[in-house]
Amino acid sequence: MRTRFAPSPNGALHLGHAYAACQAHDLARQLGGAFLLRIEDIDGMRSTPERIEAIFADLRWLGLHWDGEVLFQSSRLAAYDAALDTLKARGLIYPCFCTRSQIASAGAQPGPEGLVYPGTCRALSDDDRAHRRLSEPHAWRLDIGKALEQTGALVWHDMAAGEQAAKPELFGDVVLARKDAPASYHLAVTLDDAHQQISHVVRGRDLFLATHVHRLLQALLDLPVPLYRHHRLLAGADGRKLAKSEGAAALGLLREKGRDGPLLLENLRKAILPSGISWAEPSYSVP
Ligand code: GLU
Repeated sequence: MRTRFAPSPNGALHLGHAYAACQAHDLARQLGGAFLLRIEDIDGMRSTPERIEAIFADLRWLGLHWDGEVLFQSSRLAAYDAALDTLKARGLIYPCFCTRSQIASAGAQPGPEGLVYPGTCRALSDDDRAHRRLSEPHAWRLDIGKALEQTGALVWHDMAAGEQAAKPELFGDVVLARKDAPASYHLAVTLDDAHQQISHVVRGRDLFLATHVHRLLQALLDLPVPLYRHHRLLAGADGRKLAKSEGAAALGLLREKGRDGPLLLENLRKAILPSGISWAEPSYSVP
């Protein structure tokens, strides 16, 4: 039994991260398993050594101890490349040259994470692709239709919401390798959860729908399927999910002010929230 906390060091951790880490930590401790830490640092420009150090300091201040070595996504680039090569060889991913504004002007509809790609580059000929790849920046997208033809119907299990029929088509042809990063969140997280042998993925409800995509990638790449638990999210004074930029809820500030980390966590466990913080309503309904 293994859980993990997987923060991205592209901003300061806040109370929502403390809650997420605590949920994953406590489940591992309850079930006699291991609690692992993974730093999702492939967002080159924004991940800095100072931010990574601050994550360690925040977790120590909270009294959350992780097991074993920390895994850095920046050490996993060869694994992401290998998975992309496998999918390329099977004709399941294609290069996409579109800019955001081209996607918006092609009449794309909103989806769970921005606009659903209208499939423009899916229709390019092999010659066009080969030619344009030499000179134009490109992402790699998964051909969801083709992928689902290969896997057939899939399910995954949420510990609270129960069995879910996977609906990765909600996302359209998702990006697996970004123009500006060697792998997208979806690809890296799925491969790393398998690599770290995570049996229980505990994370926020903002990622509930992303699990549909992760389930499809597991099927395509022959990876084990963990159990999932998507916990409630914390909201700030405006009722919206806490964002990294909100200073008042930043763990680093509370730590520097000499606040008691383990006590704060103990209160979060009892659903006693600091003033100005409430439970966020998810923007979609969890069945
Ligand atoms: N790195 C992601 C974040 O900070 C979380 C990834 C996950 O738990 O799947 O939002």
